[in-house]
Amino acid sequence: MSGQPVRPPDLASAASVPIDTADCLAALNRGGSTLMRADHWAEGVDRLLAEIGLVTGASRVWIFQLLEVQSDAVVQDYVFEWAPSEHYRQLNQNRFRFFSSSLEDPAYRRLVEERQAGVSHDFCIPVMPEGPLRSDLEGQAIQSMATVPIFVNGHWWGTLGIDDCERPVSWRGPGLDLLEAAGQLIAAALYRYQLNHRSRQIELFHKVADCGVWEISLRNGWVWCSQALKTVLGYPETYPRVPLRRLLARLHPDDRAALRARLRALWRVAESTQFRLDTRLRLADRSWIWHEIIGEIQCNESGQPIAIAGLVLDISRRKQDEEQALAASQLDALTGALNRRGMAQHLETIGPATGLRHLILLDIDHFKQVNDTHGHLVGDALLRMMVERLRHELRPDDGLVRLGGEEFAVLTAGMQDDQALALAERLRRRIAADPFLVERTEDEPPLKVAVSVSLGVARQGDDVSQDPNQLMAHADQALYAAKHGGRNCVLFYREAIAPGAVNLDAE
Ligand code: GH3
Ligand code: MG
Ligand code: MG
Repeated sequence: MSGQPVRPPDLASAASVPIDTADCLAALNRGGSTLMRADHWAEGVDRLLAEIGLVTGASRVWIFQLLEVQSDAVVQDYVFEWAPSEHYRQLNQNRFRFFSSSLEDPAYRRLVEERQAGVSHDFCIPVMPEGPLRSDLEGQAIQSMATVPIFVNGHWWGTLGIDDCERPVSWRGPGLDLLEAAGQLIAAALYRYQLNHRSRQIELFHKVADCGVWEISLRNGWVWCSQALKTVLGYPETYPRVPLRRLLARLHPDDRAALRARLRALWRVAESTQFRLDTRLRLADRSWIWHEIIGEIQCNESGQPIAIAGLVLDISRRKQDEEQALAASQLDALTGALNRRGMAQHLETIGPATGLRHLILLDIDHFKQVNDTHGHLVGDALLRMMVERLRHELRPDDGLVRLGGEEFAVLTAGMQDDQALALAERLRRRIAADPFLVERTEDEPPLKVAVSVSLGVARQGDDVSQDPNQLMAHADQALYAAKHGGRNCVLFYREAIAPGAVNLDAE
C-alpha cells in the first residue's frame, strides 16, 4: 500500500543510516518467522521490532495504533515499543496513552494525509523546516525518524516507526525498505488474527443458533461446511471437504427428491434465488432429525450462478410440536378416539393398496336414557369406557373414530366381508355381555350401566376411487335398518345383490 516516500529537499544533505542489507534480510526473516509461529501475533510483533532495532542500531522501534481521524485531530494509542535501554522508553508514559494530536499544523496535517494514502516518511530533524512538528520531535530528543503506515485489508490500521536519538541521518534505502517489509508482515499477521477471531465468533454463533452453514460451488461441486455442521454430520472439525455425494446421501430419500424439484423450479423461475425446505437429515448417530435447509443461489457480477449457499437449522422441536398438534387435532378430546379429521387421515394412510376396506358404524342404543337417568358425567364416562372396550377388540391398524355424540366408526382394511361382519358381531356382543362399571365418589360403589349397540357394516368395493361419503351413506343405511330392526344387532349393506337399491340382510 505504501507509495513513494516524500523527501524534503533539505534531507539530501543528511548522510544515509549505515546498515548492512544482508543483516536486514536475516533480521526480517527471523522476525517474520516468529510472527508466523507465535501463539499470539503480539509476541511476534515484539520480536520483529527487536530485530529491526538491533540491526539498525535505532533508539526506538514503535507502533501507534490509529483509533480515529477527526476533522481537527488524530487519536492514536502507543501499543508496541522496542528500545535498547530504559533511557529511550516512552511506551509507559501517560502522554502516549490514547493521545490526541492536533491537525492545526499544516505540516502535521499533510503527514497524516499522506499516511492515510499509504506514504512512508523519513525525517532528519536538524534539517527539517521550523514548526510545531519539528519542535515536537526535538522535544522527544529525536535526531532522525522513519515511519511506515500499516494497512490491514485496505484500512490504515496504525504506524510503524523508528526513532534515532543519536544520529541525524536519512533512513531512505535499506532502512525504510526494511521498515516497509516489516509493516507488511505485521499487517498480514494482524489480518490473519482478525480472520481467525472472526471465524471463531462465527462458529460460536452457529453453535448458539443451532445452525450449520454450507456452500456448494457450481464450478466444481466442492462443498464447504462450517465446523458446527461437520460435527452434526459426524465429520472431524478439521475435515477439509465433505464430498457432495455423501452430503446428499444424508438427506432422507423423499426429501432429496423434493430438494431436487425445488432447485429445478428455482432455475426455471429466475425471479427467486432463495428456497426453504424441511428435510430429514441423518446424523452421526444414524437418527433422522428434521432440519430446515435455507439456500440461496450466489451469482457473480455478470449474473452467472456460481454457488449455492445457506443454512441448516435443527427444527426437530418445532416439528415435534407440529406433529403433536396435528395428532391432537385428529383426536376426539373426550375419548381419545379419532375424530372426523383423523378418520380422513386414516383413510389416506391405509391407502388403496390394502384391498377391501370396511366401515362399521356403531351407535349406542337409547343413550339418551343413560344421560337422563344417571346424568351427563356418567354418560361421558361411559363413552370413554366404550372406546376402551372397543379398542381392546381391534387391531392396532384398525381406525376407531368417534363421529360425534354416541356414534362411532371402525375402519378396517384387508378383511373379507364375513370377517368384517364377524368383527362387528364380536363388538356387539362384548358391549352387551357386561354392564359398564362407572366409578363415582370414593364412598359409593361403581355404578353398573348396561347398554347395547346397533351396528351397520358397508364395504368399499374393488373400485377404490369410491367416494368415502358413499361408503358412509351405505353404512349409515345399514345402521338405520339395524335400529329399526330392534337394536342390539348388526346389519350388512349388500349393494352387490341389488345394485342401486338398498338391500339389507340381517345376519
Ligand atoms: P337410539 O337408540 O335411537 O340411538 O337412541 P339414543 O337415545 O341413543 O339416540 P338420540 O340420538 O336420541 O340421543 C343421543 C343422545 O346422546 C343425546 C345426547 O344427550 C347424548 N350425547 C351426545 N353426545 C354426548 C356426550 O358427549 N356426552 C354425553 N354424556 N351424552 C351425549
Ligand atoms: Mg343412540
Ligand atoms: Mg345417535
